[in-house]
Amino acid sequence: MKIKRAGSLVWLALAASPASYAADFPDKTITLIVPFAAGGPTDTIARLLAQAMGNNLKQQVIVENVGGAGGTIAAARVARSNPDGYTIFIHHVGHATAPSLYRKLNYSSIDSFEPIGLATDATSTLVARKDFPAKDVNELLSYLKANKEKTTLANAGIGAASHLCGMLFMSAIGTELTTVPYKGTGPAMNDLLGGQVDLMCDQATNTLGHIKSGKVKAYAVTYKTPVASLPDLPPLASAGLPGFELSVWHGLYAPKGTPAAVVNKLSGALQFAVKDPTVKQRLAELSTDPVAENRATPDALRAHLKAEIDKWGPIIRKAGIYAE
Ligand code: ASP
Repeated sequence: MKIKRAGSLVWLALAASPASYAADFPDKTITLIVPFAAGGPTDTIARLLAQAMGNNLKQQVIVENVGGAGGTIAAARVARSNPDGYTIFIHHVGHATAPSLYRKLNYSSIDSFEPIGLATDATSTLVARKDFPAKDVNELLSYLKANKEKTTLANAGIGAASHLCGMLFMSAIGTELTTVPYKGTGPAMNDLLGGQVDLMCDQATNTLGHIKSGKVKAYAVTYKTPVASLPDLPPLASAGLPGFELSVWHGLYAPKGTPAAVVNKLSGALQFAVKDPTVKQRLAELSTDPVAENRATPDALRAHLKAEIDKWGPIIRKAGIYAE
């Protein structure tokens, strides 16, 4: 069955015959919306998954970057998209923190989306421009206390994992730095490499290669325990900031109302992608873990998202982090 992809016509067609709609799905290109600029970790993960999912679905899955406001601009757009399976969305832990960070959102992280499945998990890393003065975490903490006015901290906007990490860090050390928002940590990394900004807390997905080649200086990881690919970096939790923990997980979503059979097909493609050898190898090179196949499911993401919303709400309120 062919349907026109235009607002109410889609609804009519889906309502009339959801089974045959799902049977034909997908019969054209699917767009995977990335809520950050190209070149950053979410974009990297999305492109790997899109390729493998497209192979599985026998249709192209293209990535569209809709950056800004820590991912909330893209989320609002996807929430209003046709629920036909041809527009899907990837987002990270920021999808769970946005409801607490923003006083007003024009969508609901839970009610405006159909979960497709969890995808990946990665540690973040606290990194600095190559010639930043402090040589380890201890030196960094004392340097920041003495030089807070002149130290800048990049992030990808309120709602980004880099923002959350930076805010938790500043709150833990009781020192406020000047934050510099970007549309994603891809462009932020370019400025860090160029020395235009001093510090950033971003996923290993984006930083590992630059740490290994010595182009950025690294201080710590945000997982609670040490990370095999970065054995020299202490967890922040054991480097003077007890309890500090941030794990940046990604999940895929469709707009609310996307037929369950279509969501299940997309979820099947995601399950294929997370165990695809090329995807696994590339992610391993980026210190990023694909989830086990049985977590790339709507139920697993629904439960995880809810648990993360419940977990981060009190932490964010306690740290007093809000956007207008
Ligand atoms: N990792 C980034 C963040 O949330 C966003 C991105 O993937 O560009 O800070």
